[in-house]
Amino acid sequence: MERSFKKEVRSLTLGEGETFRGEGILAVTKALLQSGVSYVGGYQGAPVSHLLDVLVDAEDIMSDLGVHLETCSNEASAAAMLGASINYPLRGAVTWKSIVGTNVAADALSNLSSPGVIGGAMIILGEDYGEGASVIQERSYAYALKSSMWLLDPRPDLPTIVRTVEKGFQLSEASHAPVMLELRIRACHATGEFAAKDNIKATYSGLNRLSGPPRFQYGRLAHPPVTFTQEKLKIEERLPAACDFIRDQKLNERIPGDLSDIGIIVMGGLTNSALRALERMGLADVFGASRIPMLVLNVVYPLVPGEIREFCAEKRAVLIVEEGNPAYIEQAVNVELRHADIQTKVLGKGPLPQAGEYSSEVLLEGLAAFLQATRPNGIDADTLAEKARGLIAHKATAAAALGPLPPRPPAFCTGCPERPVFSALKLMQRELGPTHISADIGCHAFATFAPFSMGNSILGYGMSLASAAAVGPNLAKRPISIMGDGGFWHNGVITGVASNLFNQGDGVLIVMQNGYTSATGQQYMPSSLASRAGPAPGMDIERTLRGMGVKWLRKVRTYSVATMVTTLKEAMRTAERGLKVIIADGECQLARQRRVRVEDAEKLKRGERVTRARYGVDDEICTGDHSCIRLSGCPSLTVKPSPDPLRSDPVATVIESCVGCGLCGEVAHAAVLCPSFYRAEIVRNATWRDRALFRLRQTVIGWLGGYNGRLAA
Ligand code: SF4
Ligand code: SF4
Repeated sequence: MERSFKKEVRSLTLGEGETFRGEGILAVTKALLQSGVSYVGGYQGAPVSHLLDVLVDAEDIMSDLGVHLETCSNEASAAAMLGASINYPLRGAVTWKSIVGTNVAADALSNLSSPGVIGGAMIILGEDYGEGASVIQERSYAYALKSSMWLLDPRPDLPTIVRTVEKGFQLSEASHAPVMLELRIRACHATGEFAAKDNIKATYSGLNRLSGPPRFQYGRLAHPPVTFTQEKLKIEERLPAACDFIRDQKLNERIPGDLSDIGIIVMGGLTNSALRALERMGLADVFGASRIPMLVLNVVYPLVPGEIREFCAEKRAVLIVEEGNPAYIEQAVNVELRHADIQTKVLGKGPLPQAGEYSSEVLLEGLAAFLQATRPNGIDADTLAEKARGLIAHKATAAAALGPLPPRPPAFCTGCPERPVFSALKLMQRELGPTHISADIGCHAFATFAPFSMGNSILGYGMSLASAAAVGPNLAKRPISIMGDGGFWHNGVITGVASNLFNQGDGVLIVMQNGYTSATGQQYMPSSLASRAGPAPGMDIERTLRGMGVKWLRKVRTYSVATMVTTLKEAMRTAERGLKVIIADGECQLARQRRVRVEDAEKLKRGERVTRARYGVDDEICTGDHSCIRLSGCPSLTVKPSPDPLRSDPVATVIESCVGCGLCGEVAHAAVLCPSFYRAEIVRNATWRDRALFRLRQTVIGWLGGYNGRLAA
């Protein structure tokens, strides 16, 4: 069950004279509709999943505007969609998580940016860099440089974000190059307001289709020999056209300041953090006025040489606030100033760290170091640096006063269907010994944390089986690859399965079939039991694998731990060569709970019988060994003091958040642990049969000596 964004969707219909209020990523969605796009698409991933989810829920609005929406099977297919803008005056936008998504899309992006576009083409990147990021730490900047795509990095303020999107399409058309708009996690979730405009119907769209293909032009293909001409066009025509547009339209901003012998050149996306750091030092106010002049780069590539020169002239030193590595902007500014023979000193990495997120605190320290190194006229740099260090120390003092906070490592949701598979893997390895585990991207990657700590490598989304290709032939035991159904359709079916079969490989593949791309918000995918259009798309993993020629294939319900252990042992021990696939079948519990909660509430309203399973631990039987916790890792399974005064070890207990998945009981059974788990059924709107059965059971228990005299109402 996908999340619903019906409320957010209403804000997409706002028109001229109305005020939009909401999150940055939703503002981008509205800006797309105000820009007259003909098509949008993408592949979900934090922090831009929201954009695609909202567009999916806004399908009615989109079809009124004639906008085609595509929920792509991966980022490469999303990037290839932009091919519509090569030949036709069609504006289009696609979105994904970067850097990983841009890596997947790279081939199509190169082939798009070489011929260039005539319709505005925009890629909205969730730049997942810094604290809270869930991917490798690299920047999208390198792609902008190598492929000559312009990189927009708007100041995280809603009017600026919206203007940058609208101007971004114009920039793309004026320079015939695709543009990328990067949004860090904070920009996506920054809230604010802007004056809305009416949505625009594109000149050509599903409502007014183009009459036919253009006259054949070899120059529109990314194919030799025209690629040599296209390389020249990028540098000789598109780049100057982009610089002219950026300058004429004032896409970059200047914040004046009285300390004019120094300056700060900041990536647009980092402006708020830099201003906050300055404000804490008394060098800016909360409304964004700064005493140090600033050049805010809402376009970080290309840099406009004239703007850099003008800003730096007459300044003794500038600080480049550029997060991450390599320091492209710092290098480019240095080169530009040397070419122009301007002797302004350029500082960046040095006062500021080489790598890692530039939070306001990091910037506070870096700005203090910059001021002490440059000693601008009109302020006492040492006093300000002292103040900055005091502010930073304050946090450490507060943290010490609070005491250590409990660590909160990410974990599977309570009742997750994927957790039992790792319990089974643990039990299997107890018997057969450790084996190489090729991990992958998805919720199942939570198994790399305690108590499972499983996985020897992660090479990318859907890459687990491919990354085991050279491991298997060099290891005594078969490697096990774990892949989600999302990863399977994203590319694992080709990069992993097809490659393995083609090479007559061996090994074990576990496909976690939970029904959604769960880690990104339970979006539908090809094998889901429903689609955004309603009916299931009808693609099936088992049928696909059999059709490809997989002979050894088992489908096991994930919660059946004992069966899963047996199946895993069989897969590891069989003399049969070839790929062995286990489809671990179990619906994402988070999605299931969302669905069941609504269904149950409706049943209760109608006075119908509703049951809920809960598990519990019998205090008197629990030995306090806690193997059940170590084997299941369920957050609803914890400890409490033993009620027996003769036992000092705490006993296991199940807390209120239990969803009754049954794993703890299954694990206790499969691992031959103590028989302390019991299953109870909570019945609401009980029938006369339930009540009669309950009374009968209580009576029998009483005869056996267990009834304590209390009967439920
Ligand atoms: S979102 Fe679904 S699949 Fe992912 S951890 Fe939670 S229950 Fe498991
Ligand atoms: S039944 Fe056991 S494993 Fe499942 S949610 Fe409840 S406590 Fe956790």
